Formats: sequence, C-alpha cells, structure tokens
Amino acid sequence: MITEIAVVDGPLFEEIAVSAWPQALSLSRPDLLRAQALVGGEWRSAAEQFLVLDPADGSTIAAVADCDAAMALAAVEAASAAFVAWRETTAAARAAILRRWFDLVRANAEDLARLVSREQGKPLAEARGEVAYGAGYLEWFAEEARRAYGDLIPSPVRGRELKVVKEPVGVTAVITPWNFPVAMIARKIAPALAAGCTVVAKPAAETPLSALALCALAQEAGVPPGVINLVPTRRAAEISQVWMDDSRVRKLSFTGSTAVGKTLARQSADTLKRLSLELGGDAPLIVFDDADLEVALDGLMKAKFRNGGQACVAANRIYLQDAIYEPFVARLVDAVAALTVGPAGEGPRDIGPLIHDAAANAMERLVQDALAKGARVLTGGQRHPLGGAFFQPTVLTDVSPDMDLCHQEIFGPIVALGRFSDEDQAVDLANDTPFGLAAYIFSTDARRTHRVAARLDVGIVGINEGAVSTEVAPFGGVKESGYGREGSRYGLADYQNIKYVCVGGLD
Ligand code: NAD
Repeated sequence: MITEIAVVDGPLFEEIAVSAWPQALSLSRPDLLRAQALVGGEWRSAAEQFLVLDPADGSTIAAVADCDAAMALAAVEAASAAFVAWRETTAAARAAILRRWFDLVRANAEDLARLVSREQGKPLAEARGEVAYGAGYLEWFAEEARRAYGDLIPSPVRGRELKVVKEPVGVTAVITPWNFPVAMIARKIAPALAAGCTVVAKPAAETPLSALALCALAQEAGVPPGVINLVPTRRAAEISQVWMDDSRVRKLSFTGSTAVGKTLARQSADTLKRLSLELGGDAPLIVFDDADLEVALDGLMKAKFRNGGQACVAANRIYLQDAIYEPFVARLVDAVAALTVGPAGEGPRDIGPLIHDAAANAMERLVQDALAKGARVLTGGQRHPLGGAFFQPTVLTDVSPDMDLCHQEIFGPIVALGRFSDEDQAVDLANDTPFGLAAYIFSTDARRTHRVAARLDVGIVGINEGAVSTEVAPFGGVKESGYGREGSRYGLADYQNIKYVCVGGLD
C-alpha cells in the first residue's frame, strides 16, 4: 500500500484515505488525516517518512514525516519566538481559544476516535471515551486559565506591598506514550497554553495520527503559529536530546516508562528544567473479606482491562483475602472468559490487540515465568487464535512475589492473583514496589478503607472504584512513578513560575 502514497508536501493524505483504509475508516473530515510536522504554524515535510501500522494485522495506515534534529530545533525556535506574544495575551483570550478547541474536538470526536482506535488498537467505544476524556482537559483548562490568581502578602514593614504573581514557565517540551494518544497530549498542552507557555511536542511513533489531527483542530481554533509545534518521528532520542540541551526549553512534561523518564531527567539536569514525570505504575488491588464482591469484580474488570491492560493505572497485582478467595476467583474467571477480543472498530468487543507483536511476546514470557515458578492458569494464558498482537485475557492463580509479573508492569490482559490473611500483610504487599502511582481497595468497612488508604504509598487511591481518572482530580504518582500532577487546580501550577514582587516607598 505504501507505494501508492505519493503525498509528501500536501496537507492531506487522500490516497491513503481512499486506498489503504478499505474497511472505511471513513472520516467525515479526511483533512484531519495529517502526515507532516506542524512547526511555526506550517505543515512541514521531512526527508524521510515512517509507517504507522494497524496493530490488529500489521497493515499500513499511513506514512508520516520522520522528523530529525533540525526539525526539533526549528520547533524550539518557533515556540521561543511565539512565546513573546503568547505570554502577553490575556487569560480570557487564551481561555476563549482553548474553549474553541474543545468545541472543535467535540464536533469532530467521531473522527478522532476512529483515528485512535485504528492506530492504537482499542475498541471504537473505548476510543470515543478517550476522546471525551481528553476533551475534558481542554474544557477544564479553558476554565482554569481565568483563575491563575496570585497573592498579596501582609507586609512586615510599613509602606511596602508584597505581591506574588504567576508567570508561564516558558517553552515546554511534551513527550507522550502510545496508550492514550489523544488524552495524554491534551492533558499536557491544555494547561501549558492556559498558563501562557508555548509547546514543542512529540507523540509516540506508534500513534501520531490522532495527535496530528488534534493539532490541526488547535490551529483551526485559533492557536497562533508557533504556540503548538508537533514533531512526529521514530528518532525519539535524537529529538529529545535537542530539546533537553536547549536552554530555551524551560520545562519537560513526559509520560512514559520510568527508564526513559530517568534518562530525560538526567539529560535535563544541565539546563535545570522544570520536570513533570508521569511514569510507570504497578498498582495493587486489594479485596478484603468484607467487600461487596459484585462491586469488587466490577472495579477489577475496569481497573485491569481498560485498553487491554495497557494503562499506567491498570491493576497489576491483585491481592484477595483468604475467606473470599475461592468465591471471588470463580466469578472472576467467568467474567474474564466472557471478554470478547477482536480488531478495533464497531462491534461488541471488549479488548483489541496489544500495541505490537513484541508486547504479545512479553505477555507470553511473563506467563511462562509464572508457570515455571508455580502459578496456574485458570483461563487464557496464550496468544489469541487471531494471531499477531492479540493475547487471550488471562487469569493466573497461586502467584508469588518471586515471579516477574509481580515486579514489573504487565501492561496487558493478565490478572495475577495472590492472597493475604490480614490488613498489615495486605499493606506490606501493596507497598513492596519501587512504583507508587495508583492503588485500589475494596471493602465495606469505611474505617478500614480510610486506614489503608492512608498507609498506601501512592498518588491515587480508588476505594470501591476501579475507574478513577478525571480531568477535575490530580493525576500523578510518588516514588519511581514520578512527580508532578496533571488535571485539577493543581495541574496549572506545574506550568507556572512564582514571582515575588516587593514594592517599596508606599508610605
Ligand atoms: P516509553 O517510555 O517507551 O515511550 C514514551 C515516549 O517516550 C514515546 O513518545 C517514546 O517515543 C519516547 N521515547 C522512547 N525512548 C526515548 C528516549 N530514549 N528519549 C526520549 N524519548 C523517548 O513508554 P511507552 O511504552 O510508550 O508507554 C508505556 C509507559 O508509559 C508505561 O510505563 C506506562 O505506565 C507509562 N504511562 C504512564 C502514565 C502516567 O500518567 N503515569 C500514563 C500513561 C502511560
């Protein structure tokens, strides 16, 4: 299919829309299918392109500009030049632009969902949910832009005024993963723009199309040239090195693996950038004897199987108290065995393919390791008959801490079941990890949930709830899950510097 693609300079990719997506991706606005970088308000080609593949069958969806260091530098120059005027715009003007962007995303939500679903692999219904979730950040920060209040501090000396004002940090580098390609980029760019920052952004190479479409809508909403620059590439390290070395880039907001987050933190040290790092998770999910088992099952299914388990807040280790172990596992196995698996798109489907074959190989290795160390498969346990990147929804029992899946993010549809006898043991097991993003507790004893929530070393706790993410609440971790918060009223502060102004001689 790729040989039919001739477009490099035009903004549209009509050939692809017609020829390579025969199953009718059918965008109502084909012009949202972009294949170039957005730099300084212009759509720019690169010398080379890379292919975006459908994870369901490896077929080509599109060929996209493979940007290099020179393009990364051009993006910084554009963002730096645009910052001069953007920081001077009123909060009300920035809010109005973000609001228009939100309206356009809502109006084009179905097209965005189709792009997400196709390039990332999640079922269309879930992709629609992601687009609505991502749009929520645009709306929220359109509102928060107008509330960037400062302070007036009572002066200890007569005749002085002590003011605190909030200023934009400056040019912000944004690097995002493939698992939520619209939501992750929206929840970084929206607060950056609200605060008055300009952005250089790099989407994951697996999923650039929805990010490009999102930025095309930003342009349409009136975001001025250079305020958002988006650089697709498969040369992540080359691009990020340019951004980390450049002292004009004052902040990095990164979501991705802990290993890459640490590398970027090291690289940013020489220019002492502000950092927001949303990194890997290893969420424990604890079901106590006194839990409502229906509620716990519903919560576990949501916390584990959203996006096929490819979520940073996905429940990674499940701990069941002794008395409910057998009855809960029986219900769980029925629910997991009933999950439907298939390619992205319409249809009664719960789980799509993993992002690529390597991810399915990783699932296979985790299961083999667990079986060799004494675990048992209750359902699934193998690659799915659909082949490629599909993996069967799986339940493993008799899981013990020496198994690999207890120490690393599974990032796939495997439920790993362990057991505990009392509250102290549950807390010790839950905290026995270098990560600290999310945790889930199921119990009908309010005093217990209060106690346990306070003892868990994480940034997010779900109590009798498996779906906790929302733009109105702070999202982020502790320990090696990173630092910084996204969403909520705390999310804007990550993009602001505090300036103290002392005015003397007023008496
Ligand atoms: P990843 O770290 O491999 O990639 C994330 C981003 O970094 C991508 O854009 C990638 O191209 C880029 N990248 C990769 N190597 C790089 C390098 N050497 N220098 C600069 N950039 C580089 O992670 P992934 O596999 O795409 O995403 C999954 C990870 O993201 C998981 O660990 C997951 O928990 C984490 N995640 C965290 C959150 C959160 O909010 N805490 C949310 C979603 C995903």
